[in-house]
Amino acid sequence: MQHEQVVIIGSGPAGLTAAIYTGRAKLNPLVIVGPQMGGQVSLTHEVENYPGFPEGLTGAELVERMRAQAERFGTRFEYSSIVEVDFTHGRPFTLKDDNGKTYTADTVLVTSGASPRKLGIPGEEELLGRGVSYCGTCDGFFFRGKEIVVVGGGDSAIEEGIFLTRFATKVEVIHRRDSLRAGRFLQQRAFKNEKMNFVWNTVIESIGGSDSVDHVRLRNIETGETYDHPTEGVFIFIGHDPNNNIYKGQLEMSDEGYVITDHLMRTNIEGIYAAGEIQDPIYRQVASSVGQGTMAAMSLERWLSEHEDEIHAEPDLTTES
Ligand code: NAP
Repeated sequence: MQHEQVVIIGSGPAGLTAAIYTGRAKLNPLVIVGPQMGGQVSLTHEVENYPGFPEGLTGAELVERMRAQAERFGTRFEYSSIVEVDFTHGRPFTLKDDNGKTYTADTVLVTSGASPRKLGIPGEEELLGRGVSYCGTCDGFFFRGKEIVVVGGGDSAIEEGIFLTRFATKVEVIHRRDSLRAGRFLQQRAFKNEKMNFVWNTVIESIGGSDSVDHVRLRNIETGETYDHPTEGVFIFIGHDPNNNIYKGQLEMSDEGYVITDHLMRTNIEGIYAAGEIQDPIYRQVASSVGQGTMAAMSLERWLSEHEDEIHAEPDLTTES
């Protein structure tokens, strides 16, 4: 077992920011990176709205800058994912990763983020990676010269749809309503883009193809008409769900599954904090996650200094591995 003062679960903007702050506070944080260093933003082609970068930069570049900054202040990174936690039997808290390693921690910051929501229709899972994708930046290149569809009407669908016009000859946006949820600026860009086309009031019932996607079955929800639409790619951007599985029954959550925090980013368990998309169903921006990571790190740091004597008095059941 390895004992830590501060364990940060996740390496998105919230986690890396918290690592910078707790590192600078000499708390020697350990970041358990999770499946992807930087989380979702690392796969974003261009970040245009993060302050301080007027020309924009790639998500991967932004993440690398944050990672290096955290490392500069002594953050250590463990390239694994936490698969089990015990937050309910008091301190030190126990965490297990997918390499079979067990950690104990005086404080934990949960920044596990969120994952793309699935449509849950026939063909979606079977053809994943063979035409079905949840990431334009990752997979767009494979659709050069092809016709594809994008599902959803929010910022993600429209932003990714515009990006995908770099590769695809035609991007058909399938949306269940007759107006977009995406911001006005993105809408204007999309409507002006000659490669983009909109199919309103329509849902996808199934995705078809044997080796790879060759069509989608569409249904107009106003007329009830169903028909097959030939396409080689289906990019799905219909929102996200928080990565909350390992915390169920331990951390208090909203009906939608987001971890509930107070104004100090505290969860219902003393010593456990949460920041970023695991607890934020509304803003979901790099800048807001960075802010929440900062708040959580500062609260955690204050809590540790106020409880130093108590923590040192706790029996040390662990040995350094
Ligand atoms: P979102 O805003 O929740 O939009 C999801 C879209 O998918 C909506 O248009 C929704 O339709 C549709 N949808 C949901 N479930 C569906 C289903 N089962 N079948 C068909 N369509 C479905 O999610 P998002 O676009 O991922 O954005 C999430 C947050 O991140 C937002 O706050 C957004 O502003 C932010 N974001 C910002 C940027 C940026 O600033 N550049 C980029 C990406 C994301 P309805 O409209 O009918 O509900």
